[in-house]
Order: sequence, then structure tokens, then C-alpha cells
Amino acid sequence: MHRLSGSRTVAVPAAVIVAASLLSLLSAAAVTLGADPAGATPPPNSVVPFGSTAVGANTVDNPNAPVVGMAVTPDGGGYWLTGADGGVFTYGDAAFVGSAGGLRLNAPVVAMAATRDGAGYWLVARDGGVFTYGDAAFFGSAGSLSLDAPIVGMAATPDGGGYWLVASDGGVFSYGDAAFWGSAGGAPLNAAVVGMAAAPDGAGYWLVARDGGVFSYGDAAFWGSAGSLRLDAPVVGMAATAGGNGYWLVASDGGVFTYGGAPYEGSLGGTALPGPVVAMAAAPGDAGYWLVVGSKPLAGKVVGIDPGHNGLNYSAPGVIDQPVFNGTGTEPCDTTGTATDSGYTEAAFNFAVAAALRSDLEAEGASVVLTRPDNDGVGPCVTTRAAIINQGHADVAVDIHADGGPAGGRGFAVLEPVPVGPNDAVVAPSRSFATMVRDQFAAGTAMPISDYDGVGGIEPRSDLAGLNLTTVPKVLIECGNMRNGADAALLESPAFQRAAATALAQAVTVFLTGRPG
Ligand SMILES: [Zn+2]
Repeated sequence: MHRLSGSRTVAVPAAVIVAASLLSLLSAAAVTLGADPAGATPPPNSVVPFGSTAVGANTVDNPNAPVVGMAVTPDGGGYWLTGADGGVFTYGDAAFVGSAGGLRLNAPVVAMAATRDGAGYWLVARDGGVFTYGDAAFFGSAGSLSLDAPIVGMAATPDGGGYWLVASDGGVFSYGDAAFWGSAGGAPLNAAVVGMAAAPDGAGYWLVARDGGVFSYGDAAFWGSAGSLRLDAPVVGMAATAGGNGYWLVASDGGVFTYGGAPYEGSLGGTALPGPVVAMAAAPGDAGYWLVVGSKPLAGKVVGIDPGHNGLNYSAPGVIDQPVFNGTGTEPCDTTGTATDSGYTEAAFNFAVAAALRSDLEAEGASVVLTRPDNDGVGPCVTTRAAIINQGHADVAVDIHADGGPAGGRGFAVLEPVPVGPNDAVVAPSRSFATMVRDQFAAGTAMPISDYDGVGGIEPRSDLAGLNLTTVPKVLIECGNMRNGADAALLESPAFQRAAATALAQAVTVFLTGRPG
């Protein structure tokens, strides 16, 4: 039995619950309770009950995509979970009436809601597409609209005759008998909206933002918010009490915040989680609530990173000048790389971006294979770099460089392999990855697409060991031209380096999961 399931009750001083000014104390209490030992760490893609819910803990084993949403049956005797790929998993008295798990979705599923009788449910995707199952009727979707911001949540009306969708900019879209009671769209928000809950009578709703801010509309009363607190982790969802006299907020670290008449039943705050908490749902009759633990998007994935050159290569010409066979011809074991006019070296730039990328990828759950541990050494040879990543069985890899191009030329280019033997099996996926890298780098950094290298930012190459000898999908990015003044100013900037890493991490995540991180 899970230690947090069913009948376990948690004593929390009443004053903590009722006094909004003591919420930081409540948060601290949650940490203490969650730190209870005895192997309480929930598995990825699982549900953890609090209070006296009728259904306890459950886990989706090895789903094709992380669990992202939950809905509860009318009597609280069961629940559904949905994954980002639209897969639906049923527990207790929740019936399976279909899923989008076998479809190729244009955008990931982000939330779900059930009908009043529990005989159907809706899924909603990030692009506003709505999928209906069982007796859940289609009342419209935002899937054909060009949205200013992605859809992040949904709620159904009490009779199941309609639903609302909410976007991250606070925009609310109402369908069927769901009435529009206002939105935060158009107003500048301190933080993105992440979810919503409907008032029990359907005559209002709440929106909740990442910073814990709560917006109330219609007859949904404002019972307080975490908007003025310094949160350890972003708020990711909310649930309302059966009577609408209060609500809970949940943060990605499992912290739970209570407002109005919503009782505190415990939290996962302070628990080492295998992935973020992604949603919560309230049990009917205020019997408690469930928290949904997702999984890190790159859990189980291996990513290779080769930061080109090395900081001391200049000191060892006898080593790095030796010719090595790269699959189609010979090239030097390694080179010093280029530098900007101010003397900032390509080797230092490459390693800075690689370190930031490693950090981003590990935060998403990936294992990272680096070809050199620091910027204070010599080599290794380009052939060895390829071998390190091949032997690490990376699922995808990127070689990071900056170019020494003509001073008048600007921009970044992605070099992709052509089939030369060893790499034959991975050329096609490498080319898909090249497009993703090009698109993410163009969208996520201030660097323009190269005006001198490649076509549309992509250049096939057959003369580089890193691309010729790879047995894993791989590209090489020239992040800019160190010999151009405008590019050099960007390449030397820590902000640009972080943006470059983030863009590369996004490309990796899209490649490995089909979804941005
Ligand atoms: Zn280079």
C-alpha cells in the first residue's frame, strides 16, 4: 500500500488553512510532511491520492508519451489519465471509450474532461483541437484558429453540454452551453496561464497562472492566490471544491496550496519526484484529491554532444595535425578552430554552449555523452569523437561549432551527412533533425540563417569525420561566423549562448518525442 493513499490523514493546524497570510507556512508544512521516509517516491506517470479518495494510487507503465491530464468519474470511483500522445488509461469504474493514441497528432494533448454521467470524455490538444469519445459531444474547437497562444486547459459544464478551453495568454474559448464569463486574454499577465476549473454550477470559472495567480470570473469567487509568494516551482494546475467554496493549486514539485474551504490533505512537496507533477483532480464530495506525476520528456534517452576543438589544441600541433581517415578521405586529427577579432576562441564558445545544452537536456531527464570534459585539453581526434558518441549509443547527437567564414558573411548553418557507408542508416533521420535544428535555432536565437553557407541554412557534407562515421542521427551546427563583427558580438554573449543551447535542446526534444519540451 502506498503510504499516502486512502485513509491516511494529515494533521495540519487549522489556522494554516484559513489564513492566506500564512501560506508560506503551509508550504513549509507540506515540505515536512512530504519528506516522510519509507520509499514514498511515486513512479513516473502515476497518480497519488490524498484524503479519503475511493481510488488509490495507479501507474501507467512505459506509456508512449508522458501522462499530462486526468479526469474523474462522477462518483469518484474511478479516473482516466491521458498522455501527451492522446493515449487514455482507465482505473476503477472509469470506462474506456476510445483514445487518440493511434493517431498522428498535429499537437500534443494537454488536458481532458469527462461528461456528467462518466460515459464519455474530451481530450484537448495544444493547438486547440478537441477529440470526443463516448457520449462526449463535439461542440467546436479552436483547432482551425490561428491561436496567439497554445491551449493549456479545459473544463466541462455541469451538464456536459459544453466546455471551455483556456490558452496560456488567458484567452478563454467557450463552446456549447458553456457561457463566456470573461478572460485574461489581452491583459498583460505576469505569468502564463496553465489551467482552469469550472464553478460547480457552470456560472463561472477560475484561471490559474504559472506564478500562482488566480483569476475568477462569473460566480466563481476569489479565495486567494499564490501570486505574491516566491514559489519553489511553477504552479501547473488547480481543482475546485464540490461546492465551489474553495480551491487547491498544485505546483510541479508537488506542493499544494489551499484556499477558501478547500481542506489540506497532504502534498508531494519535498518528495524527490521522477518527473513533474502535471495535474490534479478533486474527488467528489470533497473526499480528497489526486496529484498526477508525469515524467521527464527525455527520460531514458541518450544525447551526444561534441563541442568542436579544444582549448589547448594550439599547444600540441604534433598531435592534432596528424591525418586521420574520415570515411571518404583524410583530415587533421583536430584543429584549433577559429576566434573572434577580440580573441574569444571557437573552442571556448563551443564548450560554453555544450555545457548549457547538457544542463538543459539533463533537466529533461536525458543522459548526455560529451566528447571532452572541459576546455583545458588537447583533442580528441575527430574520429575518436565520433566513436565516443557511437559507443554511447546516443539516440541523437549534435556537433557544436562556430565558423571562420568570410568577414562579410553572416549567420548559422546546419551541416548534415550524406551516405558514405558507415552512416547510411542514419542519414535520413539526421536530415529530419537538421531541419528541426535549423527551425528551432532560427526561431529561438537572434542569429540569422547563413547568407554564405548552405541553402536555407542547411549544407550536406561528405568530408567530415563527425558526419561520415556516425552511426547515430547527427548534425553539425556552425552557430554563426566568428569572423563577422555582428555575429561575433552575438557569439561572445552569454545570453546568446544560453539561447543557442535552449534552441538545440528544443530541437532534440522535438526529434526524440515529436513535441517541444
Ligand atoms: Zn569548428
